[in-house]
Amino acid sequence: MKNVFSKIALFLVAAVFVISSFGVQPVSAASNPFKDVSWSDEEILYLWNKGLINGVDKNSFGPSESVTREQAATLIGRALGLNGSLRKTSFPDVDPKRYSSGYIQTAYEKGIITGNSDGTFRPQETMTRGEMAYLLSRAFKYSNTGNVFFSDINVDTSSNSLYTAVSKIATAGVSNGTGTGTYSPSKKLIREEFAIFLARALNSSYRVTYQNVTIDNLRVTVNSLNIRTGPSTGYYALGKLNSGDAFAVYGYKGAWAYGKSGSYTGYVHSDYLAEAVPATASSRYITLDPGHGGHDGGATANGLREKDINLDVAKRVEAKLKAKGIKVYMTRSTDVFHSLSARVDKGVASGSDTFLSIHTNSAGAHGASGSETYYSASVGSDSKELATFVQNRLYVAMNHPNRGVKNYGFQVIRTNPLPAALVELGFITNDYDAAKLASGTYKDRAAAAIAAGIEDYYNWKAKN
Ligand SMILES: [Zn+2]
Repeated sequence: MKNVFSKIALFLVAAVFVISSFGVQPVSAASNPFKDVSWSDEEILYLWNKGLINGVDKNSFGPSESVTREQAATLIGRALGLNGSLRKTSFPDVDPKRYSSGYIQTAYEKGIITGNSDGTFRPQETMTRGEMAYLLSRAFKYSNTGNVFFSDINVDTSSNSLYTAVSKIATAGVSNGTGTGTYSPSKKLIREEFAIFLARALNSSYRVTYQNVTIDNLRVTVNSLNIRTGPSTGYYALGKLNSGDAFAVYGYKGAWAYGKSGSYTGYVHSDYLAEAVPATASSRYITLDPGHGGHDGGATANGLREKDINLDVAKRVEAKLKAKGIKVYMTRSTDVFHSLSARVDKGVASGSDTFLSIHTNSAGAHGASGSETYYSASVGSDSKELATFVQNRLYVAMNHPNRGVKNYGFQVIRTNPLPAALVELGFITNDYDAAKLASGTYKDRAAAAIAAGIEDYYNWKAKN
């Protein structure tokens, strides 16, 4: 027993987010002491370099570990410079001697947190993403709401609703959901998500633009249908739609559908909309993102350029998917440069439901070989499934080492509102991998494997 207790105590001490004060100078300009945090996890490194968070131990951030309600209250309290003096709280289950008591009480007095309906706070319960939306919207006093739709949150515009809290943080650019129009309010919050949310709240350069995601592709069934600025006939009519016009639905408010048709974005009554195409076909539309391009060549070695391999393989995947009846949007089909955020934006704007970025790996060590596929744990669990289906096909087809499915914060998958994965085809720096990446036969095998993995994913989605 003694061992168990000391282990728990050690974990609690280490797991607390330690903050000295808001706005302290970074200890060093930019450093990353964590073996489980990538250099592209800028939000975590920003908070760490500002002295706002610590890891669970010296070399680990513990990105996938959960966040308790008292940890969240403490970190927010310190970030806002609230009074954290340990004291008696309004909650019988918060020990006045506990590190969190002062912040919990001050946050309670300021209306940032509320307890449970039975009068408790349950400090050591894991915080959910829904609770986090309430906490952040109150702590940072967000007031603006927009046409935000998540299929797993009922639209309820009353001031204390979950919808209103989530709409506020989405409108503020703090969250764009967990994939294809979902927010996952009951999902346990993990440290990586918490850090990303907080960094976005504190620093505008990390914010994301909430974008509506198409959840239904419908068609208009009558002529002269008004599309309006709000969900009732009392709102201004932007224009008229006609029978057969396509209507991409972003969400529903009661009997009204909000979405886009041609150049109009607004509300129409859902009685005048019907299924456009069989659901199975409309639900399979992927964005392929060939990495790099233009002045950004990516990795180069063995006479090969990454940007060329990525595009070649992506085009082969595109052809194979289209042959399977899966719609494809390409972020680039030529040798052009797009920023990482533009790639995400273009993919979402296309109306596709899934995102796959295609890259080629490189390493200083020539021995490094094999494929690996990434997902970001900060977005929905479907991303991990997508990465897994693709990876499980790819390494077999390439007949090279399986480096596995990994959680890593590449921007195009971390900031993506769609289920998203990033595949590394193989190492351009390895003689064996490079020979395959130069071979049309192997590029075709890789493409067939990726296309099959995407189809596996869609088949799995259809069953879940
Ligand atoms: Zn790359």
